[in-house]
Amino acid sequence: MPRPLSLYDTWERRLRPFAPLVPGGPVGLYTCGPTVYDYQHIGNFRTFLFEDVLKRVLRWNGYRVNHVMNITDVGHLTSDADEGEDKMEKGARRTGKTAWEVAAYFTDAFVADMKRLNVLDPSVLCKATDHIAEQIAFIADIERNGYAYATSDGVYFDTSKLDDYGYLARLDVEGLEAGRRVELGEKRRATDFALWKFSPPGGTRQMEWDSPWGRGFPGWHIECSAMAQKYLGDYFDIHCGGEDHIPVHHTNEIAQTEGRLADHPEIARDHRRLANFWLHGYFLLANDAKMAKSAGEFLRIASLSDRGYDPIAYRYLCLTAHYRSQLNFTWDALDAAQTGLERMRQGFHALPDEAATPDAAFVDRFADEINDDLNLPRALALAWEVLRGDLAPPVRRATLARFDEVFGLGLAAWTPKAVEVPPDVKAIADARNAARKAKQWAEADRLRAELHAAGWEMEDRADGYSLKRRQEKHA
Ligand code: AMP
Ligand code: ZN
Repeated sequence: MPRPLSLYDTWERRLRPFAPLVPGGPVGLYTCGPTVYDYQHIGNFRTFLFEDVLKRVLRWNGYRVNHVMNITDVGHLTSDADEGEDKMEKGARRTGKTAWEVAAYFTDAFVADMKRLNVLDPSVLCKATDHIAEQIAFIADIERNGYAYATSDGVYFDTSKLDDYGYLARLDVEGLEAGRRVELGEKRRATDFALWKFSPPGGTRQMEWDSPWGRGFPGWHIECSAMAQKYLGDYFDIHCGGEDHIPVHHTNEIAQTEGRLADHPEIARDHRRLANFWLHGYFLLANDAKMAKSAGEFLRIASLSDRGYDPIAYRYLCLTAHYRSQLNFTWDALDAAQTGLERMRQGFHALPDEAATPDAAFVDRFADEINDDLNLPRALALAWEVLRGDLAPPVRRATLARFDEVFGLGLAAWTPKAVEVPPDVKAIADARNAARKAKQWAEADRLRAELHAAGWEMEDRADGYSLKRRQEKHA
Protein backbone atom coordinates (compact mmCIF):
# COMPACT_ATOMS: atom_id res chain seq x y z
CA MET A 1 0.00 0.00 0.00
CA PRO A 2 1.45 3.38 -0.93
CA ARG A 3 1.58 6.06 1.69
CA PRO A 4 -1.52 8.30 2.02
CA LEU A 5 -1.23 11.92 0.98
CA SER A 6 0.22 14.33 3.51
CA LEU A 7 0.84 18.03 2.97
CA TYR A 8 2.75 20.68 4.87
CA ASP A 9 0.26 23.07 6.43
CA THR A 10 1.67 26.53 7.13
CA TRP A 11 -1.01 27.14 9.78
CA GLU A 12 0.18 24.23 11.91
CA ARG A 13 3.78 24.27 10.64
CA ARG A 14 3.76 20.54 10.14
CA LEU A 15 2.93 17.74 7.74
CA ARG A 16 -0.67 16.66 8.12
CA PRO A 17 -2.52 13.77 6.51
CA PHE A 18 -4.89 15.15 3.92
CA ALA A 19 -8.57 14.24 3.82
CA PRO A 20 -11.26 16.32 2.11
CA LEU A 21 -13.65 18.15 4.42
CA VAL A 22 -16.58 16.58 2.59
CA PRO A 23 -15.85 12.87 2.26
CA GLY A 24 -16.35 11.86 -1.36
CA GLY A 25 -16.93 15.45 -2.34
CA PRO A 26 -14.69 17.61 -4.46
CA VAL A 27 -11.64 19.21 -2.90
CA GLY A 28 -12.08 22.98 -2.67
CA LEU A 29 -8.85 24.68 -3.76
CA TYR A 30 -8.28 28.44 -3.89
CA THR A 31 -5.07 29.79 -5.40
CA CYS A 32 -4.23 33.48 -5.50
CA GLY A 33 -3.88 34.51 -9.12
CA PRO A 34 -1.85 37.14 -10.93
CA THR A 35 -2.00 40.91 -10.58
CA VAL A 36 -2.50 41.83 -14.21
CA TYR A 37 -0.74 45.17 -14.60
CA ASP A 38 2.21 43.56 -16.36
CA TYR A 39 3.38 40.19 -17.64
CA GLN A 40 3.91 37.47 -15.09
CA HIS A 41 7.57 36.58 -14.60
CA ILE A 42 8.93 33.06 -14.37
CA GLY A 43 8.96 33.39 -10.57
CA ASN A 44 5.20 33.84 -10.52
CA PHE A 45 4.92 30.80 -12.77
CA ARG A 46 6.93 28.73 -10.33
CA THR A 47 4.09 29.22 -7.84
CA PHE A 48 1.41 28.46 -10.44
CA LEU A 49 3.31 25.32 -11.49
CA PHE A 50 3.51 24.14 -7.89
CA GLU A 51 -0.26 24.63 -7.60
CA ASP A 52 -0.80 22.72 -10.84
CA VAL A 53 1.25 19.81 -9.55
CA LEU A 54 -0.70 19.88 -6.28
CA LYS A 55 -3.93 19.63 -8.26
CA ARG A 56 -2.57 16.74 -10.33
CA VAL A 57 -1.49 14.92 -7.18
CA LEU A 58 -4.95 15.38 -5.67
CA ARG A 59 -6.41 13.90 -8.85
CA TRP A 60 -3.93 11.03 -8.79
CA ASN A 61 -5.32 10.27 -5.33
CA GLY A 62 -8.80 10.01 -6.82
CA TYR A 63 -10.17 13.40 -5.74
CA ARG A 64 -12.11 15.75 -7.92
CA VAL A 65 -10.81 19.27 -7.51
CA ASN A 66 -12.90 22.40 -7.57
CA HIS A 67 -10.20 24.95 -8.28
CA VAL A 68 -10.84 28.67 -8.04
CA MET A 69 -8.24 31.20 -9.15
CA ASN A 70 -8.72 34.95 -9.05
CA ILE A 71 -7.42 37.65 -11.32
CA THR A 72 -6.36 40.71 -9.33
CA ASP A 73 -7.40 43.54 -11.63
CA VAL A 74 -7.96 46.24 -9.00
CA GLY A 75 -6.82 47.27 -5.54
CA HIS A 76 -3.28 45.84 -5.31
CA LEU A 77 -1.22 48.85 -4.28
CA THR A 78 2.45 49.33 -5.04
CA SER A 79 3.17 48.66 -1.37
CA ASP A 80 1.57 45.65 0.35
CA ALA A 81 0.93 48.00 3.29
CA ASP A 82 -1.93 50.01 1.78
CA GLU A 83 0.23 52.80 0.54
CA GLY A 84 1.21 53.95 -2.89
CA GLU A 85 -0.70 53.81 -6.09
CA ASP A 86 -2.96 51.07 -7.42
CA LYS A 87 -0.76 48.90 -9.67
CA MET A 88 -3.44 48.86 -12.37
CA GLU A 89 -3.72 52.63 -12.53
CA LYS A 90 0.06 52.89 -12.59
CA GLY A 91 0.18 50.33 -15.42
CA ALA A 92 -2.35 52.43 -17.32
CA ARG A 93 -0.22 55.53 -16.95
CA ARG A 94 2.86 53.65 -18.06
CA THR A 95 1.26 52.21 -21.21
CA GLY A 96 -1.12 55.02 -22.16
CA LYS A 97 -4.01 52.54 -22.14
CA THR A 98 -6.99 52.43 -19.81
CA ALA A 99 -6.70 50.34 -16.65
CA TRP A 100 -9.39 48.08 -18.14
CA GLU A 101 -7.41 47.55 -21.34
CA VAL A 102 -4.26 46.84 -19.36
CA ALA A 103 -6.11 44.23 -17.29
CA ALA A 104 -7.62 42.51 -20.35
CA TYR A 105 -4.31 42.43 -22.21
CA PHE A 106 -2.24 40.96 -19.36
CA THR A 107 -4.97 38.51 -18.38
CA ASP A 108 -4.89 37.08 -21.91
CA ALA A 109 -1.08 37.00 -21.85
CA PHE A 110 -1.19 35.14 -18.54
CA VAL A 111 -3.68 32.54 -19.78
CA ALA A 112 -1.60 31.98 -22.94
CA ASP A 113 1.57 31.42 -20.89
CA MET A 114 -0.23 28.98 -18.59
CA LYS A 115 -1.19 26.97 -21.71
CA ARG A 116 2.42 27.00 -22.90
CA LEU A 117 3.40 25.53 -19.54
CA ASN A 118 0.72 22.85 -19.84
CA VAL A 119 -1.06 24.06 -16.70
CA LEU A 120 -4.60 22.70 -16.25
CA ASP A 121 -7.38 25.28 -16.40
CA PRO A 122 -8.99 26.24 -13.08
CA SER A 123 -12.67 25.38 -12.65
CA VAL A 124 -13.36 29.07 -12.05
CA LEU A 125 -11.17 32.00 -13.09
CA CYS A 126 -12.72 35.07 -11.49
CA LYS A 127 -11.91 38.74 -11.66
CA ALA A 128 -11.96 41.05 -8.67
CA THR A 129 -13.75 43.74 -10.72
CA ASP A 130 -16.60 41.30 -11.46
CA HIS A 131 -17.18 40.81 -7.72
CA ILE A 132 -17.44 44.30 -6.28
CA ALA A 133 -20.92 43.67 -4.81
CA GLU A 134 -19.69 40.54 -3.00
CA GLN A 135 -16.74 42.48 -1.58
CA ILE A 136 -18.97 45.32 -0.38
CA ALA A 137 -21.30 42.82 1.31
CA PHE A 138 -18.33 41.13 2.97
CA ILE A 139 -17.04 44.46 4.31
CA ALA A 140 -20.55 45.36 5.54
CA ASP A 141 -20.61 42.12 7.58
CA ILE A 142 -17.21 42.92 9.07
CA GLU A 143 -18.37 46.42 9.93
CA ARG A 144 -21.61 45.20 11.48
CA ASN A 145 -19.57 42.99 13.80
CA GLY A 146 -17.54 46.00 14.92
CA TYR A 147 -14.26 44.97 13.25
CA ALA A 148 -13.92 48.00 10.96
CA TYR A 149 -13.44 51.73 11.32
CA ALA A 150 -13.39 54.62 8.88
CA THR A 151 -10.65 57.16 8.31
CA SER A 152 -10.58 60.05 5.89
CA ASP A 153 -9.08 57.84 3.17
CA GLY A 154 -10.93 54.57 3.62
CA VAL A 155 -12.39 51.83 5.78
CA TYR A 156 -9.88 49.78 7.76
CA PHE A 157 -9.89 46.43 9.49
CA ASP A 158 -9.31 46.73 13.23
CA THR A 159 -6.77 44.00 13.93
CA SER A 160 -6.81 44.70 17.69
CA LYS A 161 -10.21 42.96 17.78
CA LEU A 162 -8.58 39.59 17.15
CA ASP A 163 -6.46 38.02 19.84
CA ASP A 164 -4.87 35.65 17.31
CA TYR A 165 -4.28 38.13 14.50
CA GLY A 166 -1.19 37.08 12.54
CA TYR A 167 -1.13 33.48 13.79
CA LEU A 168 -0.55 32.09 10.28
CA ALA A 169 2.69 34.08 10.05
CA ARG A 170 3.47 33.79 13.77
CA LEU A 171 3.55 37.60 13.75
CA ASP A 172 4.72 39.27 16.92
CA VAL A 173 2.05 41.97 16.86
CA GLU A 174 3.03 43.46 20.22
CA GLY A 175 6.66 43.63 19.13
CA LEU A 176 5.67 45.22 15.83
CA GLU A 177 3.70 47.88 17.67
CA ALA A 178 6.48 48.56 20.18
CA GLY A 179 9.18 48.83 17.52
CA ARG A 180 7.07 50.78 15.06
CA ARG A 181 8.89 53.64 13.38
CA VAL A 182 6.50 54.69 10.62
CA GLU A 183 3.72 57.19 11.13
CA LEU A 184 0.36 55.51 11.35
CA GLY A 185 -1.67 58.40 10.05
CA GLU A 186 -5.23 57.68 11.03
CA LYS A 187 -4.64 53.95 11.28
CA ARG A 188 -4.87 52.70 14.84
CA ARG A 189 -2.33 49.93 14.53
CA ALA A 190 0.43 49.15 12.07
CA THR A 191 -1.22 45.85 11.19
CA ASP A 192 -4.63 47.38 10.38
CA PHE A 193 -5.32 47.25 6.66
CA ALA A 194 -7.66 48.78 4.10
CA LEU A 195 -10.94 47.09 3.26
CA TRP A 196 -12.11 49.95 1.08
CA LYS A 197 -10.21 52.98 -0.15
CA PHE A 198 -11.80 56.25 -1.23
CA SER A 199 -10.95 57.57 -4.68
CA PRO A 200 -8.43 60.37 -4.46
CA PRO A 201 -9.82 63.85 -5.11
CA GLY A 202 -9.57 65.21 -8.62
CA GLY A 203 -11.45 62.44 -10.43
CA THR A 204 -8.29 60.84 -11.82
CA ARG A 205 -9.14 57.28 -10.89
CA GLN A 206 -10.39 55.01 -13.66
CA MET A 207 -11.61 52.04 -11.64
CA GLU A 208 -14.05 53.14 -8.93
CA TRP A 209 -17.43 52.18 -7.56
CA ASP A 210 -20.07 53.52 -5.21
CA SER A 211 -20.27 51.93 -1.78
CA PRO A 212 -22.06 52.60 1.51
CA TRP A 213 -18.86 54.35 2.67
CA GLY A 214 -18.17 56.47 -0.38
CA ARG A 215 -16.90 56.18 -3.93
CA GLY A 216 -13.73 54.19 -4.19
CA PHE A 217 -12.30 50.73 -4.67
CA PRO A 218 -11.69 47.58 -2.62
CA GLY A 219 -8.49 46.76 -0.75
CA TRP A 220 -6.44 43.91 -2.18
CA HIS A 221 -7.18 41.24 0.43
CA ILE A 222 -10.97 41.46 0.44
CA GLU A 223 -11.30 40.15 -3.13
CA CYS A 224 -9.84 36.77 -2.22
CA SER A 225 -11.93 36.43 0.94
CA ALA A 226 -15.09 37.34 -0.94
CA MET A 227 -14.52 35.19 -4.02
CA ALA A 228 -13.29 32.20 -2.02
CA GLN A 229 -16.40 32.41 0.13
CA LYS A 230 -18.67 32.76 -2.89
CA TYR A 231 -17.31 29.79 -4.83
CA LEU A 232 -16.01 27.50 -2.08
CA GLY A 233 -17.89 28.44 1.09
CA ASP A 234 -16.82 29.70 4.53
CA TYR A 235 -14.37 26.90 5.14
CA PHE A 236 -12.80 24.85 2.40
CA ASP A 237 -9.93 22.43 1.87
CA ILE A 238 -6.79 24.16 0.60
CA HIS A 239 -5.63 27.73 0.05
CA CYS A 240 -2.33 28.42 -1.75
CA GLY A 241 -0.06 31.22 -2.80
CA GLY A 242 3.60 32.19 -2.79
CA GLU A 243 5.53 32.46 0.49
CA ASP A 244 5.29 36.28 0.36
CA HIS A 245 1.55 35.93 1.01
CA ILE A 246 2.01 34.47 4.48
CA PRO A 247 2.62 37.64 6.56
CA VAL A 248 0.23 40.06 4.87
CA HIS A 249 -2.20 38.87 2.22
CA HIS A 250 -3.20 35.52 3.68
CA THR A 251 -2.97 36.76 7.24
CA ASN A 252 -5.47 39.46 6.31
CA GLU A 253 -7.74 37.12 4.35
CA ILE A 254 -8.05 35.04 7.51
CA ALA A 255 -8.67 38.10 9.69
CA GLN A 256 -11.47 39.23 7.37
CA THR A 257 -13.17 35.86 7.55
CA GLU A 258 -12.88 35.84 11.33
CA GLY A 259 -14.37 39.34 11.41
CA ARG A 260 -17.25 38.38 9.16
CA LEU A 261 -18.06 35.22 11.14
CA ALA A 262 -17.68 36.82 14.59
CA ASP A 263 -21.45 36.82 15.10
CA HIS A 264 -21.66 33.08 14.39
CA PRO A 265 -20.74 31.44 17.69
CA GLU A 266 -21.96 28.11 16.32
CA ILE A 267 -19.03 28.03 13.89
CA ALA A 268 -15.99 26.60 15.65
CA ARG A 269 -13.13 29.03 16.02
CA ASP A 270 -10.88 26.63 14.18
CA HIS A 271 -13.18 26.76 11.16
CA ARG A 272 -12.83 30.51 10.75
CA ARG A 273 -9.40 30.37 9.24
CA LEU A 274 -10.90 30.03 5.78
CA ALA A 275 -9.06 26.88 4.76
CA ASN A 276 -8.18 23.58 6.40
CA PHE A 277 -4.74 23.59 4.76
CA TRP A 278 -2.56 26.58 3.88
CA LEU A 279 0.18 25.75 1.38
CA HIS A 280 2.89 28.09 0.18
CA GLY A 281 5.30 27.86 -2.70
CA TYR A 282 8.81 29.16 -2.09
CA PHE A 283 10.36 31.76 -4.29
CA LEU A 284 12.32 31.55 -7.46
CA LEU A 285 15.44 33.65 -7.07
CA ALA A 286 17.52 35.24 -9.78
CA ASN A 287 21.17 35.66 -8.91
CA ASP A 288 20.21 34.76 -5.35
CA ALA A 289 17.83 37.72 -5.05
CA LYS A 290 14.04 37.77 -5.15
CA MET A 291 12.65 37.99 -8.67
CA ALA A 292 10.02 40.72 -8.71
CA LYS A 293 8.13 42.67 -11.31
CA SER A 294 9.08 45.90 -9.61
CA ALA A 295 12.77 45.02 -9.94
CA GLY A 296 12.75 46.25 -13.53
CA GLU A 297 14.09 43.59 -15.87
CA PHE A 298 12.48 40.25 -15.30
CA LEU A 299 12.24 37.03 -17.24
CA ARG A 300 9.03 36.00 -18.91
CA ILE A 301 8.13 32.73 -20.58
CA ALA A 302 8.66 34.54 -23.88
CA SER A 303 12.20 35.48 -22.78
CA LEU A 304 12.94 31.77 -22.52
CA SER A 305 11.40 30.87 -25.90
CA ASP A 306 13.27 33.75 -27.53
CA ARG A 307 16.49 32.07 -26.49
CA GLY A 308 15.37 28.76 -27.98
CA TYR A 309 14.11 27.09 -24.80
CA ASP A 310 10.91 25.10 -24.69
CA PRO A 311 8.59 26.50 -21.96
CA ILE A 312 8.15 22.89 -20.82
CA ALA A 313 11.87 22.85 -19.98
CA TYR A 314 11.04 25.48 -17.36
CA ARG A 315 8.29 23.22 -16.06
CA TYR A 316 10.84 20.40 -15.87
CA LEU A 317 13.26 22.68 -14.02
CA CYS A 318 10.60 23.46 -11.42
CA LEU A 319 9.99 19.74 -10.90
CA THR A 320 13.64 19.29 -9.93
CA ALA A 321 13.24 21.38 -6.76
CA HIS A 322 10.89 20.80 -3.85
CA TYR A 323 8.22 23.51 -3.68
CA ARG A 324 9.24 24.30 -0.11
CA SER A 325 12.77 25.27 -0.99
CA GLN A 326 13.85 28.34 -2.87
CA LEU A 327 15.19 27.77 -6.36
CA ASN A 328 17.92 29.92 -7.83
CA PHE A 329 17.39 30.42 -11.55
CA THR A 330 20.44 30.14 -13.80
CA TRP A 331 20.74 29.57 -17.53
CA ASP A 332 22.92 26.56 -16.82
CA ALA A 333 20.13 25.03 -14.75
CA LEU A 334 17.67 25.67 -17.57
CA ASP A 335 20.11 24.11 -20.05
CA ALA A 336 20.30 21.01 -17.92
CA ALA A 337 16.50 20.90 -17.64
CA GLN A 338 16.09 21.23 -21.40
CA THR A 339 18.59 18.42 -21.96
CA GLY A 340 16.80 16.26 -19.39
CA LEU A 341 13.46 16.95 -21.00
CA GLU A 342 14.76 16.15 -24.51
CA ARG A 343 16.28 12.88 -23.32
CA MET A 344 13.11 11.92 -21.53
CA ARG A 345 10.98 12.70 -24.58
CA GLN A 346 13.25 10.80 -26.90
CA GLY A 347 13.57 7.90 -24.49
CA PHE A 348 9.81 7.75 -24.14
CA HIS A 349 9.20 7.80 -27.89
CA ALA A 350 11.81 5.12 -28.53
CA LEU A 351 9.61 2.76 -26.49
CA PRO A 352 6.90 0.89 -28.41
CA ASP A 353 3.37 2.19 -27.97
CA GLU A 354 1.71 -1.16 -27.32
CA ALA A 355 -1.05 -2.02 -24.89
CA ALA A 356 0.52 -2.46 -21.44
CA THR A 357 -0.30 -1.70 -17.84
CA PRO A 358 2.00 0.43 -15.71
CA ASP A 359 4.29 -1.49 -13.39
CA ALA A 360 2.49 -1.78 -10.03
CA ALA A 361 5.61 -1.65 -7.85
CA PHE A 362 6.91 1.50 -9.54
CA VAL A 363 3.48 3.13 -9.42
CA ASP A 364 3.36 2.50 -5.68
CA ARG A 365 6.84 3.92 -5.17
CA PHE A 366 5.84 6.94 -7.23
CA ALA A 367 2.75 7.48 -5.06
CA ASP A 368 4.97 7.28 -1.98
CA GLU A 369 7.06 10.16 -3.28
CA ILE A 370 4.32 12.48 -4.52
CA ASN A 371 2.20 11.82 -1.43
CA ASP A 372 5.12 12.81 0.77
CA ASP A 373 4.31 16.52 0.50
CA LEU A 374 4.79 16.50 -3.29
CA ASN A 375 8.33 15.24 -3.49
CA LEU A 376 8.65 15.78 -7.22
CA PRO A 377 12.46 15.71 -7.33
CA ARG A 378 12.37 12.12 -6.08
CA ALA A 379 9.41 11.28 -8.32
CA LEU A 380 11.41 12.55 -11.29
CA ALA A 381 14.40 10.43 -10.29
CA LEU A 382 12.07 7.44 -10.27
CA ALA A 383 11.02 8.22 -13.85
CA TRP A 384 14.67 8.00 -14.89
CA GLU A 385 14.97 4.70 -13.09
CA VAL A 386 12.03 3.40 -15.11
CA LEU A 387 13.38 4.78 -18.38
CA ARG A 388 16.84 3.26 -17.88
CA GLY A 389 15.59 0.10 -16.18
CA ASP A 390 14.85 -3.33 -17.56
CA LEU A 391 11.07 -3.54 -17.47
CA ALA A 392 9.53 -4.66 -20.76
CA PRO A 393 9.64 -1.61 -23.09
CA PRO A 394 5.83 -1.21 -23.45
CA VAL A 395 5.49 -1.40 -19.66
CA ARG A 396 8.16 1.25 -19.27
CA ARG A 397 6.23 3.50 -21.60
CA ALA A 398 2.90 2.90 -19.85
CA THR A 399 4.50 3.55 -16.45
CA LEU A 400 6.04 6.83 -17.60
CA ALA A 401 2.75 7.92 -19.15
CA ARG A 402 1.09 7.30 -15.80
CA PHE A 403 3.77 9.37 -14.00
CA ASP A 404 3.33 12.13 -16.53
CA GLU A 405 -0.23 12.68 -15.33
CA VAL A 406 1.50 14.38 -12.40
CA PHE A 407 4.55 15.84 -14.17
CA GLY A 408 2.43 17.38 -16.92
CA LEU A 409 5.34 17.30 -19.37
CA GLY A 410 3.04 16.10 -22.16
CA LEU A 411 5.37 13.22 -23.05
CA ALA A 412 2.85 11.23 -25.08
CA ALA A 413 1.63 14.24 -27.05
CA TRP A 414 5.12 15.40 -28.00
CA THR A 415 6.32 14.95 -31.56
CA PRO A 416 9.82 15.76 -32.73
CA LYS A 417 9.59 18.97 -34.71
CA ALA A 418 11.83 19.76 -37.63
CA VAL A 419 13.66 23.00 -36.93
CA GLU A 420 12.84 25.69 -39.44
CA VAL A 421 15.93 27.42 -40.71
CA PRO A 422 15.39 30.96 -42.04
CA PRO A 423 16.59 31.35 -45.67
CA ASP A 424 19.28 33.95 -44.87
CA VAL A 425 20.76 31.64 -42.24
CA LYS A 426 20.72 28.78 -44.73
CA ALA A 427 22.54 30.99 -47.25
CA ILE A 428 25.36 31.73 -44.79
CA ALA A 429 25.61 28.05 -43.89
CA ASP A 430 25.84 27.07 -47.57
CA ALA A 431 28.52 29.68 -48.15
CA ARG A 432 30.48 28.41 -45.17
CA ASN A 433 30.16 24.83 -46.34
CA ALA A 434 31.53 25.84 -49.75
CA ALA A 435 34.41 27.79 -48.14
CA ARG A 436 35.27 24.80 -45.99
CA LYS A 437 35.33 22.47 -49.01
CA ALA A 438 37.57 24.98 -50.80
CA LYS A 439 39.83 25.01 -47.70
CA GLN A 440 39.30 28.76 -47.26
CA TRP A 441 39.58 28.47 -43.50
CA ALA A 442 39.58 32.16 -42.62
CA GLU A 443 36.42 32.73 -44.63
CA ALA A 444 34.82 29.63 -43.11
CA ASP A 445 35.60 30.90 -39.60
CA ARG A 446 34.22 34.31 -40.41
CA LEU A 447 30.95 32.78 -41.64
CA ARG A 448 30.72 30.58 -38.59
CA ALA A 449 30.99 33.67 -36.40
CA GLU A 450 28.25 35.27 -38.47
CA LEU A 451 26.03 32.25 -37.83
CA HIS A 452 26.78 32.45 -34.13
CA ALA A 453 25.78 36.08 -34.06
CA ALA A 454 22.50 35.13 -35.73
CA GLY A 455 21.95 32.53 -33.01
CA TRP A 456 22.87 29.31 -34.85
CA GLU A 457 25.36 26.54 -34.38
CA MET A 458 26.70 24.61 -37.37
CA GLU A 459 28.04 21.10 -37.22
CA ASP A 460 30.10 19.75 -40.08
CA ARG A 461 29.24 16.35 -41.45
CA ALA A 462 30.95 14.18 -44.03
CA ASP A 463 27.97 14.66 -46.34
CA GLY A 464 27.28 18.33 -45.56
CA TYR A 465 26.26 20.00 -42.30
CA SER A 466 23.51 20.34 -39.72
CA LEU A 467 22.19 23.46 -38.03
CA LYS A 468 20.75 23.94 -34.58
CA ARG A 469 19.76 26.91 -32.51
CA ARG A 470 22.43 28.15 -30.14
CA GLN A 471 21.58 28.12 -26.50
CA GLU A 472 23.02 31.21 -24.98
CA LYS A 473 24.21 30.51 -21.53
CA HIS A 474 24.47 33.98 -20.17
CA ALA A 475 22.30 37.02 -20.09
P1 AMP B 1 1.27 38.70 -8.16
O1 AMP B 1 1.05 38.77 -9.65
O2 AMP B 1 2.30 39.64 -7.67
O3 AMP B 1 -0.04 38.87 -7.42
O4 AMP B 1 1.84 37.26 -7.83
C1 AMP B 1 1.28 36.07 -8.32
C2 AMP B 1 1.83 34.87 -7.56
O5 AMP B 1 3.25 34.74 -7.76
C3 AMP B 1 1.63 34.96 -6.05
O6 AMP B 1 1.23 33.69 -5.57
C4 AMP B 1 3.00 35.32 -5.52
O7 AMP B 1 3.19 34.86 -4.22
C5 AMP B 1 3.90 34.57 -6.50
N1 AMP B 1 5.27 35.08 -6.64
C6 AMP B 1 5.68 36.37 -6.73
N2 AMP B 1 7.03 36.44 -6.90
C7 AMP B 1 7.49 35.15 -6.90
C8 AMP B 1 8.79 34.53 -7.04
N3 AMP B 1 9.89 35.24 -7.21
N4 AMP B 1 8.85 33.17 -6.98
C9 AMP B 1 7.74 32.42 -6.82
N5 AMP B 1 6.49 32.94 -6.70
C10 AMP B 1 6.36 34.28 -6.74
ZN1 ZN C 1 -5.29 36.24 -2.77
